[in-house]
Amino acid sequence: MIPLLLLLQVPADAYELTGRSWAWQADPVEDPFFFNLDSFPSSYRRSEMEDGFIAALDVWNVQGRAPIALRYGGTTDVVQFGGGPDGSNTMFWTPASTDGSVALAARTFLDADIVDCDIQVYGENSLGPVSWGFSQTEASGPDAYSFVYTAVHELGHCIGLTHSNVPGAIMRVNQSTNLGPGDWDLTPDDVAGLQAMYGVLESDLVIAEVVPSPPLESPGTAFDLVVRVENQGAGVATDVIGLISQTGGEAFATIVTGSAAMGDVAAGASTGTAEDALTFRLAVPFTCQETGAVSLDLTVAEASGLSVSQPVSFDVRCPAAPVITEPPPSRCAAVSASGWWALAALLVGWRRRERY
Ligand SMILES: [Zn+2]
Repeated sequence: MIPLLLLLQVPADAYELTGRSWAWQADPVEDPFFFNLDSFPSSYRRSEMEDGFIAALDVWNVQGRAPIALRYGGTTDVVQFGGGPDGSNTMFWTPASTDGSVALAARTFLDADIVDCDIQVYGENSLGPVSWGFSQTEASGPDAYSFVYTAVHELGHCIGLTHSNVPGAIMRVNQSTNLGPGDWDLTPDDVAGLQAMYGVLESDLVIAEVVPSPPLESPGTAFDLVVRVENQGAGVATDVIGLISQTGGEAFATIVTGSAAMGDVAAGASTGTAEDALTFRLAVPFTCQETGAVSLDLTVAEASGLSVSQPVSFDVRCPAAPVITEPPPSRCAAVSASGWWALAALLVGWRRRERY
């Protein structure tokens, strides 16, 4: 059991792992999470509660970038906190806590394998009543805690994390009041902890071809860089965008348009035309007078945040610089044919003078 508001004296520089996870499963977490809506006070709106819980599950699924899926199983009337693998990870309401916690997660494990996790949310703790904001838009008031934030935090315990002392991390031990959207985004520390347990989820997008055109450029002109993308996964890659940044060869081409969008890419689809490929624009400087390599970093990303990157390098062939004519040889450095005759005559004359 991990109290949310209980101050633990655990020194740490970053995320902390429990040493237990669902990594033993082929597709973690295989058992879905159920929500006991009827256990909560009737004053809370059910649709907001349910939407908030699903949003919390998706925070780990989407922002975590790990091969893990927290699934929503629907509503339940089960109230069970730990106690064994019952095939049902359950979120439910408990009227009062005996300590300062606002929520608590209970993992059931066999050796290093987590097999079940339940979460209870309190209506009151040792500090007084707890006011819950179930809306995904805000939780305001002096005692108002965000249900979405709390659910994201407790789900972090469920998947194997303990507390982090990194400021702003979802897994920090203390929760502030009045939190809203953006406050429950995962931080790099939370993502690093998740990926340390489950690995990194790679994008199914593949950069199939990078075509600079036309091949022969003229100084002062611009040209397109067309990137074909293939989706080798089973699902749709939505809102695919591309970004390029320059890593070398500025003397031969520089980036004019470094970002591009291509919408959705269906599973198995290969984007074959310029219209549905990513198209960037580069320009050749007026000073380009020789062939040289342009180096770029190319990243293609889906709306989910999954991305694929690779270095790109291609030649830009500019016209050779004009040949500069050498100045004519100096007269001091050569003797013309007539000069040889003059020299010979001089030598003959000198011998004559010598004879006479
Ligand atoms: Zn906690």
